[in-house]
Amino acid sequence: MLAVGMLRGKEGVHSFDVPVPEIKQPDEVLVGVKQVGLDGTDFNMLRHQLQDPAEGRDEVVMGHEMVGVVEETGSAVTSLASGDVAVMTVRRGCGICHPCLHNQSDMCMTGLYTERGIHRLDGFLTRFVADREQYILKVPPRLRDLAVFSEPLSIVEKGIEQIKLIQSRLPWTCSHPEHDFQSGDWGGCKTALVVGAGPLGLLATALLRFAGTKTYVADIVSEDSPKVHMVRHMDAIYIDARDRTPAEIVGRCFQAGGLIDIIFEAAGAVATAIELINYMSRSSIYVMTGIPRKEMMLQVDGAQLVRQLVRYNQVIVGSVNSNRSHFQMALDDIGEVDARFDGMLGEMVTNRFQLENYEQAFILDDPNHIKTVIDVEPWD
Ligand SMILES: [Zn+2]
Ligand SMILES: [Zn+2]
Repeated sequence: MLAVGMLRGKEGVHSFDVPVPEIKQPDEVLVGVKQVGLDGTDFNMLRHQLQDPAEGRDEVVMGHEMVGVVEETGSAVTSLASGDVAVMTVRRGCGICHPCLHNQSDMCMTGLYTERGIHRLDGFLTRFVADREQYILKVPPRLRDLAVFSEPLSIVEKGIEQIKLIQSRLPWTCSHPEHDFQSGDWGGCKTALVVGAGPLGLLATALLRFAGTKTYVADIVSEDSPKVHMVRHMDAIYIDARDRTPAEIVGRCFQAGGLIDIIFEAAGAVATAIELINYMSRSSIYVMTGIPRKEMMLQVDGAQLVRQLVRYNQVIVGSVNSNRSHFQMALDDIGEVDARFDGMLGEMVTNRFQLENYEQAFILDDPNHIKTVIDVEPWD
């Protein structure tokens, strides 16, 4: 069957033939792929030739955001049945460390994990894929058209979870007990700055707004961009970061309230990401999710940095990947995200292609691009 990905030592995206996978273990599930989302990781793999096939293989199938339909299940599978809509997680654990042994490979301690479509494992840009039941989640049928967003939303769910877990150290940020970080309305009386209005930044904004956080979003697109329209539709405030220094960006937030409780970095823009540390408020948290690819040497005042982190009780935390629990959170929230913001997820899909037209899907020349979805097979 047709598969799309990269070849060892070769530039660009290619199609090649792979065998239809078969169920070999009782806990395996065969899934027919319906849609695959592309994101910055896929485009960066191409741009920087980061293909990473398994040992002994010369090709790697791309695509790590998917939704499909279960075709067949092994004899021991209990949570999925033929015909179920399903999504697959991305990372497969090292099989050695305790987090991986407990299905928390996003926190792998050895670095020996693999990732479907990214790191030494085939991804989802093909007709059929098979995997173990523990890596596959059932999707309510009414959510099937949104479920291709469960992977990016799971990344954001994990980032927000990290914020809530760590900031539970700080039960009192205002006079309202219901604004405690463990409460449903934890975002009340809080201000956040989201850096980057791509899919992750927009989804982070959605979850922050859900929690009642006053949210600013900085990006380098003009006011008439669909990204800005979406930011405003969520009652978040857009800051055009072009020709603005990080000081001026945070100046906009400070004008309004005084503190920035949360910075959520989702752009991978190193210089801005590092400089924003200087403007963190006391007792605040800064979560970084962007992964820069090129080298970037910067000068920082190390003494000032350490002094500030200590004296202000600040936390800077990185958050990568996500595990099954975050996918479940994403599936629990995805319908509400879309409904509350009037079909926002559908609007985020700015570019759609059939699998056969994969070459066009990887050419990014649309200034209004937010999310590309590849239709592998139509829903029945
Ligand atoms: Zn591990
Ligand atoms: Zn409050």
